[in-house]
Amino acid sequence: MSETEAVVNLKPDIEDLVPSEASARHSAGDPANASSFPKVLRRRLENFFSDRHISPKADRSMWGKIALGLAVLAGSWIALYVFNPDSWKFVAVYLLGGLAQTFLMLNIAHDSNHNAISPLPSVNKALNYVFDLCGINSYMWRILHHRGHHSCINLHGEDDALTGRRIFRFTPHEPRAPWQRFQHIYALFFYALFSLDYVFLRDFECFFFPSHGYLKRTKHPVREYAILFAGKGFYFTYMLILPVLLLGKSLLLVALAFVLTHIIVGLTVSLVFQTTHTVDSTYFPSSRSDFDNGVYHIFATTADYATSNPLVAWLVGGLNHHIVHHLCPFVCHTHYGSLTRIVKQTAEEYGVPYRQNPTMTRAIVHHLILLKRLGSEA
Ligand SMILES: [Zn+2]
Repeated sequence: MSETEAVVNLKPDIEDLVPSEASARHSAGDPANASSFPKVLRRRLENFFSDRHISPKADRSMWGKIALGLAVLAGSWIALYVFNPDSWKFVAVYLLGGLAQTFLMLNIAHDSNHNAISPLPSVNKALNYVFDLCGINSYMWRILHHRGHHSCINLHGEDDALTGRRIFRFTPHEPRAPWQRFQHIYALFFYALFSLDYVFLRDFECFFFPSHGYLKRTKHPVREYAILFAGKGFYFTYMLILPVLLLGKSLLLVALAFVLTHIIVGLTVSLVFQTTHTVDSTYFPSSRSDFDNGVYHIFATTADYATSNPLVAWLVGGLNHHIVHHLCPFVCHTHYGSLTRIVKQTAEEYGVPYRQNPTMTRAIVHHLILLKRLGSEA
């Protein structure tokens, strides 16, 4: 088995859906290569925790983030029902809830779906439902994220993050459509619709009309269908129906607040993720066998950004430290800053290219440059 498979566990057990930590940690294998870059890097990352006797799971700052995100979301809805604010004040408080949802998805749901928050599976499992609370089916998200992204970064036809619905051409291995010449111009408009698409269409498509082979082959448990409908029902009820029925708001006002919330969620989540793999400096492998080692695959296809800005990391759930995230997805993101320093230093020592953009704005610009290039070149 190549280390790509070992690092990210190519075929995770569908029952669990999360690659086991052991498969990543014990991927060392060949002792003759003990001084190779991947092995030295992995050893140093592991030693960071063992030398300091600290857990790779949530620390105090992470529990603080979880409490803050949940408190702001709950507080915004309590405020809506206690004070029943009018017109723009209603929209403002509703949007505050939307910001809390964005924060919770990036900072908590992503980590919990990687089992990165607690050593207790039940705690991670409970926090996974944050996605369902935000209108996204957590079970399907887990399948798409682990099997359709972590195991096949930037692989055309396999990496779900490269699905452009013919609106976008995200890889050079995809045929080009004439309108994609303008994709760098219309990108932000469609990114703003990303979460609306996810909430209304994508989850249902993935369950009932799947396009990926691995989804077609997967027999989902009946309870996951029940959770899909219950989760969507709960979300649409509290986001759309109750404000009309209980608060007496007009459907138009509620719809406006709902769409504005999704514009924030869609733009934020799209830009936070798109800037990590699809920028003009990252590589798009033509097959899994382009790299005989998963660590090199991650370094070639992933770029960090704004790693010296702790505020960015705090807001985006450490996803700007994306190389570390792919190397150690089972580690809580509040540790990423320290681990990225090890990654940078080791990569420099071994002469392995480390891709990064100094700020998030630069990362967005370089994402748009890639879109422009892919839209105009064959
Ligand atoms: Zn991930």
